[in-house]
Amino acid sequence: AEYRLAEQTRLRARLRGSAPALSGAGIHLTYEQLDDRTSRLANVLRDRGIRAGDRIAVVGRSSPEIIETVLAAAKIGAVTVPLNWRLSVRELGEVVDDAQARLIVCHRDFLDTVTEIRSGADALVEPIVFGDPRPPLSYEELLAAASSEDPGHVGDADDVVLQLYTSGTTGRAKGVLTSNTNLGACTQAGGPWGFDDSSVSLCAMPLFHIGGLGWALVGLANGAHNVVIADFTPESLLDTLVRERITNVFLVPTVIGMLVDVPGADRADVGALRSIAYGSAPITPALLRRTLHTFGTPLFQVYGLTETHGAVTQLDAADHSTDPERAHLLRSVGRPYPWVELSIRTASGTEAPPGEQGEICVRTPQATRGYHRRDAETAATIDADAWLHTGDIGRVDAEGYVYVTDRLKDMVITGGENVYPTEVEAVLGDHPDVAQVAVVGLPHDTWGEEVTAFVVAAPGHEPTEADLRTFARTRLAGYKVPKTVHIVTALPLGATGKILKRALREQFAP
Ligand code: ATP
Repeated sequence: AEYRLAEQTRLRARLRGSAPALSGAGIHLTYEQLDDRTSRLANVLRDRGIRAGDRIAVVGRSSPEIIETVLAAAKIGAVTVPLNWRLSVRELGEVVDDAQARLIVCHRDFLDTVTEIRSGADALVEPIVFGDPRPPLSYEELLAAASSEDPGHVGDADDVVLQLYTSGTTGRAKGVLTSNTNLGACTQAGGPWGFDDSSVSLCAMPLFHIGGLGWALVGLANGAHNVVIADFTPESLLDTLVRERITNVFLVPTVIGMLVDVPGADRADVGALRSIAYGSAPITPALLRRTLHTFGTPLFQVYGLTETHGAVTQLDAADHSTDPERAHLLRSVGRPYPWVELSIRTASGTEAPPGEQGEICVRTPQATRGYHRRDAETAATIDADAWLHTGDIGRVDAEGYVYVTDRLKDMVITGGENVYPTEVEAVLGDHPDVAQVAVVGLPHDTWGEEVTAFVVAAPGHEPTEADLRTFARTRLAGYKVPKTVHIVTALPLGATGKILKRALREQFAP
């Protein structure tokens, strides 16, 4: 049967009944309980006036209620917009406004933030607050009082069910539209990821990213027990893997690097672990070898984008070989899934000759149809033949392995989070002491890349690094704030007056 997010919970409850479905933050739910609670929440949303096609936002550190909100909204045809809780109030307000969200489900830690956002947005009704036992806004109280009858919405294959935000080269956040078909295509990855009824899957990556949410939705669609954690340290993460007897986990390279550094990691009993999946950012072959050595657990890599709802290629565990003849594969992101077409394109849009570099383009039912109310950006990303341009540069070898070699898009990946330099430059450029600014990512052992700013002072002004960082922090999420600000006399310029970021990166690389 065709995948419909609205029907998933009901269907899984029938198939998996009293098997564990979702736990975390003190909540333990079977598939039946998950179905019951999401029907209740769907009815609460409907009673609040939410209708099919309406956007509702959800904000909080990873917790089962975020996944319940996604599933409940789908049961009435509403679209969930997961918000990145690390954003500043200003940034969050922009996303809520762009999405024209009608309601925000939030953790009580974010109630003040939501109240501030609501003061500037007339369309927003009162929030629903989880992690807080007090009425009248309490999630649990509202659920307890609601009808448990499934509203019965089914929806069409093309209906939008989710809207995740990514930044872009313009610095403006864009809402990626996710359809039932997109999610249905993604769930096929359950096989190559090794999910089955007996899986205990750890959802450790943030649920506002497709890497975290997609992992959880694929886990649920494959009948796994999904364990959600937040605010972990490398030590507590290792402890969770052992204590919960986790079988499947997805982590970004930065977190894997911290995990293998935990003293005694090589003696931890991770015997239940069948594999460790990693992706979202490049990894070094050295860290791969260390990880294999430390845990002795098979590793596999995925490569993808929010626009493709995650993984489109996979480097299988068998390709992580110690055989010197196959060692080059550790620099590859693997091969496309059978339901993904991949093509390397030249700057003029034609297919590149075999083995040559060009932009990685994909065509697959996983790919978004475009961005919410951004026709120009959509047209620039998806061409008339439905090829999605990833903004990544790569090549494909004779065996079909894909290598990501560079990025066309000006983007920094730090600790698995993407930062668009234009956005940071716009903020620093607003500081009265700044005449010119360029932001780049410099290689960093732990974070992969580190956001670094180069600033030319306005005549007669002497900005300090501390001033500029404080200024940026009030306007941007912490991970976007430059770790280092170099005050320079001039920036390297090309013939057309464009700042030569490559020259900056080469000159200042550690
Ligand atoms: P998430 O948002 O959940 O972190 P993501 O990183 O896959 O997922 P985006 O934030 O849209 O999605 O970032 C996509 C970009 O991340 C890709 O275009 C590519 O530049 C980079 N990327 C993703 N996976 C890999 C990988 N395995 N190796 C190298 N770069 C990757």
